[in-house]
Amino acid sequence: MEERTIFHKIRDKEIPAAIVYEDDDVLAFKDIRPKAPTHLLFIPKHFVASIADVTPETAHLPGMLILKAQKFAAEKGIRGYKLTYHVGKEGGQEVMYLHLHLMSGQGLEE
Ligand code: 5GP
Repeated sequence: MEERTIFHKIRDKEIPAAIVYEDDDVLAFKDIRPKAPTHLLFIPKHFVASIADVTPETAHLPGMLILKAQKFAAEKGIRGYKLTYHVGKEGGQEVMYLHLHLMSGQGLEE
């Protein structure tokens, strides 16, 4: 059985998060320990643990998250940002549920 991470629980609304965007495929929420004025996490609703576990069947997911982040940033007027995937424990990944970090020096207008 797949191990349920904190992001499964956020996805399934079992624990709260500051959700900034949601659709049928993706959820985006504020990082609880922000490292930039805007620090968001984009997760696919379909679970994949890590970039290291992506297969040909799930290879569209990392790109989909990038497109959702790009669209979100454009809509919010965030002009410059960093997008990061941490891969594996040694790559700095602490939550084993695929997620894309969006960080910007620009704040997010509420
Ligand atoms: P990673 O290092 O795995 O790429 O990033 C995981 C991120 O998730 C970290 O930046 C961490 O601050 C964030 N995080 C961990 N637990 C929670 C949580 O319960 N809620 C939210 N919103 N973010 C979390």
